Amino acid sequence: MSSEDGSKAGTDLASEVVSWLEANWDPALSVEEWWRLVGRAGWSAPHLSVEEGGRGLPRSADRQVRALFASHGALRPPGGLGLLMAAPTILRHGTPDQIERHVPPILEGRLAWCQLFSEPGAGSDLAGLSTRAVRDGEKWVITGQKVWSSMAREADYGMLLARTNPDVPKHAGISWFAFPLDQPGVTIRPLREMTGEALFNEVFLDGAICDHADLIGGENNGWAVTQTTLFFERTGIGAGGNHAGFPNPGPKGGALGRLAGEAAKDVPPGNNKVVSFGDLTELAQRMGKNDDPQIRQKLARLWSYIQIGNWNVRRGKAEAKAGGGASVASIGKLSQTRIMKLSAEVALDILGPAGMVTGESGVDHGRFVDAFVFAPASSIYGGTDEIQRNIAAERTLGLPRDHRPDKDVSFSEALRHQQARRSGRA
Ligand SMILES: Cc1cc2nc3c(=O)[nH]c(=O)nc-3n(C[C@H](O)[C@H](O)[C@H](O)COP(=O)(O)OP(=O)(O)OC[C@H]3O[C@@H](n4cnc5c(N)ncnc54)[C@H](O)[C@@H]3O)c2cc1C
Repeated sequence: MSSEDGSKAGTDLASEVVSWLEANWDPALSVEEWWRLVGRAGWSAPHLSVEEGGRGLPRSADRQVRALFASHGALRPPGGLGLLMAAPTILRHGTPDQIERHVPPILEGRLAWCQLFSEPGAGSDLAGLSTRAVRDGEKWVITGQKVWSSMAREADYGMLLARTNPDVPKHAGISWFAFPLDQPGVTIRPLREMTGEALFNEVFLDGAICDHADLIGGENNGWAVTQTTLFFERTGIGAGGNHAGFPNPGPKGGALGRLAGEAAKDVPPGNNKVVSFGDLTELAQRMGKNDDPQIRQKLARLWSYIQIGNWNVRRGKAEAKAGGGASVASIGKLSQTRIMKLSAEVALDILGPAGMVTGESGVDHGRFVDAFVFAPASSIYGGTDEIQRNIAAERTLGLPRDHRPDKDVSFSEALRHQQARRSGRA
């Protein structure tokens, strides 16, 4: 697409969004009513096809639409992990019944989701997870522990990975469940991070129940389904997607009953975590640092990273169209991590000693300091930098695969070996 075509498409999208908002935005509606309208009109995920509940627009339209809603003074479409990962996963792997039951509530912000993948013994080696699901008629009984589960306290459903067959190699015995969190077998405890917030949780599953009808993508086929979830997580992060969503979707988020016009005025806390290039040039001017050669050099480096990141997003789109793209998703995620960290670092360089003041007394209510303490997390969530580099090395550069001694051994056998090694018996 030429830049002329691109800007025409941008203008067409802007006029389409604005005329829809002029006809529909009503600050007197409740958030629930407004999000229902927005979701049914396809604005929550405009990059999905019309049949899937979107508007068949490019991936980048999502951010543009949200910005247009905000500049019109309207409450943005719902966000959150359900929209980022669960909806596209279920759309790709679910049955028509599963899609019908799970996707519209996500697009309309009626229910919130979290991701129940990581465990105390399974992060980078996600396929080594040991949460167990045992079938009992039309139900699965689930026991185990998840950790680092962002927003689990506010969620209604979890994208849960559990082992459904321990007698096959680890990747082959996992299933992906749309798991209801509000039940007696589930205990959720908050974990406080270095930011001072408790986005994280640990989730204990003790005989928790999931209907067989909510096993997505086929029994023991969870690893293939997980690749879709991770692809959307990484491309979403690579495209600078907003994880948390604002206000939080679902009944526990506390926004559904509020007036949409009131909720539209809230300042998104997510803004605290992301420092844009425009924020930095404005800050440099305000602090009288725009002539400082060191700052200028870092800003120029950051600008180059951002341009490379944008080209990478385009490359990812082209490769995804051709049926590939997993390694580009990894490179995109690495690129976004580098941008996030350098942006926060430059902000603190510009602030100088003022960057040591946190909270309300800090510059712009301490948002740059908040971004700085959150930035290291970007190297970890969605798969660590090292893992993204492994994927890029193996799938893009064609380097030899990482050593995988347990590849052809059943999970239970590998576990026995591991336990024996730990106890000194092997
Ligand atoms: C802000 C944030 C939000 C998160 N949200 C969620 C969530 O909602 N749901 C969820 O399930 N998880 C979540 N996570 C967890 C995240 O996915 C894991 O932390 C991550 O996958 C790493 O796993 P780990 O912490 O067990 O580290 P480990 O896997 O133990 O890794 C430790 C170190 O070893 C390195 N390493 C491990 N294996 C290799 C290898 N093969 N080659 C090279 N280096 C290697 C890693 O890169 C890392 O530096 C979140 C994490 C963060 C920081």
